[in-house]
Amino acid sequence: MSYISRNPYTEAIEHEYPDATDAQVEQALATAHSAFLDWSHTDHAQRAELLRAVGRLLTERTEELAAVLTRDMGKTIGEARAEVGTCVRILTWYADHAEKFLQPRTELAANYKGGTYQIVPSPLGIIFIVEPWNFPYYQIARVLAPQLAAGNTVILKHASNVPGAAQAWQTVMDDAGAPRGLFTNLFATHDQSARIIADPRVRGVALTGSEAAGAVIAGQAAQALKKSTMELGGADALIVLEDAEVEKAARWAAYGRHRNAGQVCVSSKRMIVVDAVYDRFVAAYLAEVGKLRAGDPFDPDTTLAPLSTEGARTDLQAQVERAVAAGATAQYVDLPVPEHGWFFPPVVLSDISPDNPAYHEEFFGPVTQLYRVADEDAAVKLANDSPYGLGGSVFTADEQRGLHVARRLDTGMVAVNRPSLGGPDVPFGGTKRSGYGRELIDLGLLEFVNQKVIGLGDIDA
Ligand code: NAP
Repeated sequence: MSYISRNPYTEAIEHEYPDATDAQVEQALATAHSAFLDWSHTDHAQRAELLRAVGRLLTERTEELAAVLTRDMGKTIGEARAEVGTCVRILTWYADHAEKFLQPRTELAANYKGGTYQIVPSPLGIIFIVEPWNFPYYQIARVLAPQLAAGNTVILKHASNVPGAAQAWQTVMDDAGAPRGLFTNLFATHDQSARIIADPRVRGVALTGSEAAGAVIAGQAAQALKKSTMELGGADALIVLEDAEVEKAARWAAYGRHRNAGQVCVSSKRMIVVDAVYDRFVAAYLAEVGKLRAGDPFDPDTTLAPLSTEGARTDLQAQVERAVAAGATAQYVDLPVPEHGWFFPPVVLSDISPDNPAYHEEFFGPVTQLYRVADEDAAVKLANDSPYGLGGSVFTADEQRGLHVARRLDTGMVAVNRPSLGGPDVPFGGTKRSGYGRELIDLGLLEFVNQKVIGLGDIDA
C-alpha cells in the first residue's frame, strides 16, 4: 500500500490506495492508445468543448476539490481554492488559444521551383506525466490541458502522498465526459513507471519533481529514445538593489518564501541584498515573517501551513543542522505552532560560505538563505553561482535596470519587483539542473507534437 493520503495537520490517514496491478497498467496503456486513435482526429472545437467542461466542473466543485488538497498535503484552504481557479484558467486558455498554434504553416521550398511544403503540428500519442505533490491539481493541468488540446492522451503517475487529489481529478475528467482512456490516473510503482516509459505506445514523458527523480526518469526516456521535459528544483535568488523599495521587497520576499509552506519550486529561496540596504531589509523581512500564523490550514486566518509529510520535516531539519554544522548561523523565528501537525517554524540562515553544502542546495520549506553583497555585480555573480536555474527576481526602483540585471541571470524566468510570475500564457521552465523544456503557452503545447513536413507541388524530376 504505497499511495497514502495522510493529513499533515491532524496526522490521520485519510485514504489508502493499493498500487496498480500489472494488468491495470496494461489496460491503461491499451485504453489510452485506443483513445488516442480517435482523439487525434477530433477537431479543435471538440477538444475545446471538453476542456471547458472540465473547467466548469472544477469551478462548480471548487469547495470540495480544495478541501481534498488541504487534507492531502496541508496547503491552506485559501491557497487550495486559488489553485483550482488557476487550473480553470489554464483549461480555458487552451480552449481559447490552442487552435491558432496548431495551424499548418505553408512555406516555399527554395530548392524546388514552385514547390511548397506544409509544417503540420500533429499529435504523437500517449504522454506519460509524473507529477509532484506541492500543487497536485495545477501540476496536472499545466501539462494535461495543452496535451489534450494537441490531440494527445495522458497517463498520470502522481506523487504517492496525494492519491486523493489524483483520484478527485480522475472523477472530474470522467464526469466532464472525457472519453475513456483520454486521461488515466494510475497508482503506478516506480518499476511500473519504468515499463510504461519503455512501452512503444508511450511517445513522450513529462516530469515535474526533484533532480533525483529527473535523473532517473530522463535516463529511462533517453534509453527508450523518447522526448522528455524536466521541470525540476530551484534555489531562486531574490535580489534587492540599493534603490529598491525595501519594505515592499521584504513583504514580497516573505510571501514568496512562505506561501505553500515554502514548498514551491519557484519560491524566493536565496535573498541576496546589497550592503547599503541589508540591515533595513533584514529588519523588515523578519518583521514580515513574524506576522505569519501557523495553524489549521482550514482556518482562513492561517498563513503558514504544515509541511506535506513528516519525512519532509525530518529531512528539512537535518538539512538545516548540516548547514549550521558547516558554519551557517540559524535564526529561528519564534512563531507558536500547534502541538500536532508537521509544522516547521521559519528559519533564516546567514553566514553561508561557498564551501557550505547549503550554498548549493534547495531548501523545500520555510528556510531562508540570506546573503549580503557589495553591489549589483556581486549580486548577479552570487545568484548565478548555483547548480539551479529556474526563476529569480530583482527589486529596484528603475525598471530598465531590473531588466538589465534580469538578462544577466542564468535562469528560465525572472520577475522584476515581484517574487515570480505565472499564468497559462507565460512560459514555465528552467536551465541547468532545474531541467529543460517549457510548459504553458504555445511552447508547452508544442513540446509533444510531431512537426510533420508535407511537400506539395508537382515538380519535374
Ligand atoms: P520527487 O520525489 O522527485 O517526486 C516527484 C514525482 O516523481 C512523484 O510522483 C514521485 O513519485 C515520482 N518519482 C520519484 N522517483 C521516481 C522514480 N524513480 N520512478 C518513477 N517516479 C518517481 O519530488 P518531491 O521531492 O516530492 O517534489 C519536490 C521537488 O519538485 C522539488 O525539488 C521542487 O523544486 C520540484 N518541483 C519543480 C517544479 C517545476 O516546475 N520546476 C514544480 C514543482 C516542484 P513517488 O511519490 O511515488 O516517489
